[in-house]
Amino acid sequence: TMASPALLMRVVASAYSVAEKAATIVRNVMSAGDLGIVEKTGANDLQTKADRLVQMSICASLARKFPKVTIIGEEELPNDEVTEELIEDGHCEEILKKTCPAQYTGIKEEELVIWVDPLDGTKEYTEGLLDHVTVLIGIAYGGKAIAGVINQPYYNYEAGAGAVLGRTIWGVLGIGAFGFQLTEAPAGKHIIVTTRSHSSTLVNDCISALNPDSVIRVGGAGNKIIQLIEGKASAYVFASPGCKKWDTCAPEAILHAVGGKITDIHGNSFQYNKEVKHMNSAGVLATLRNYDYYASRIPNTVKQSLVP
Ligand code: AMP
Ligand code: MG
Ligand code: MG
Repeated sequence: TMASPALLMRVVASAYSVAEKAATIVRNVMSAGDLGIVEKTGANDLQTKADRLVQMSICASLARKFPKVTIIGEEELPNDEVTEELIEDGHCEEILKKTCPAQYTGIKEEELVIWVDPLDGTKEYTEGLLDHVTVLIGIAYGGKAIAGVINQPYYNYEAGAGAVLGRTIWGVLGIGAFGFQLTEAPAGKHIIVTTRSHSSTLVNDCISALNPDSVIRVGGAGNKIIQLIEGKASAYVFASPGCKKWDTCAPEAILHAVGGKITDIHGNSFQYNKEVKHMNSAGVLATLRNYDYYASRIPNTVKQSLVP
């Protein structure tokens, strides 16, 4: 008989289906029309009914299948019973067919940490910038982001009838990343992607110092990593605290799986063990190629303002 697939591959295969269910919830809440917006720390830090329902769905679905895995979600929610209609039990067969990298075959449930951003780009979701929105499920082992799923519920929503709405991107270190077309950014051009709703003087000064050819301002950490791997931008630069571990875990795994690099603004890698501080206090610097070009040009004054 065939040996059962490695735990890591079973978790990724389930996370894929769980993220697709999440995308359906994100679309259903929007079409029902009542977003149920709550301000968390302020007007630029929102939670909607979709953030709440999706986190319940993802966390309860994965916890039921993998009870010893640590799951950390962005939203603080009451510990209520989750209704059965929010539970996703399926998995992606194609992922189970891939060979687990040798260094991950012995991983046990209690060694995995899953970082969940149920809806990344909430501000943009409330403003109708729907393709900025992603659902992020990042999987960490030994403090490192090793696998991730990014679902984009409204991918193609402006492409007209006939286009398939939504997509799921997934990746594992040592296997690669799938569900999109890896594309290089235009050679010799410096195109920076950054926040649209959390700018500051420091964020803008840092970008100016890099003397870019152009700047793309869009919502979501997941969405900005998609800009990098699809060749729309050459660097994601965010000289500010504000991003959290659930924003960067899944994007990091996917970017690293295709040879990119993400760090804080000092060049420190992010840690994802369950005890770690949630805030990425020293900002974000990510590229698919030419990381050193950008890292070497971050001004010291910017670095001194951002304490890890
Ligand atoms: P953005 O690029 O502005 O969409 O931010 C990427 C992620 O970091 C999103 O999940 C934001 O909610 C979060 N984030 C960034 N800056 C802040 C901030 N100042 N306050 C709250 N959340 C933030
Ligand atoms: Mg987020
Ligand atoms: Mg979120």
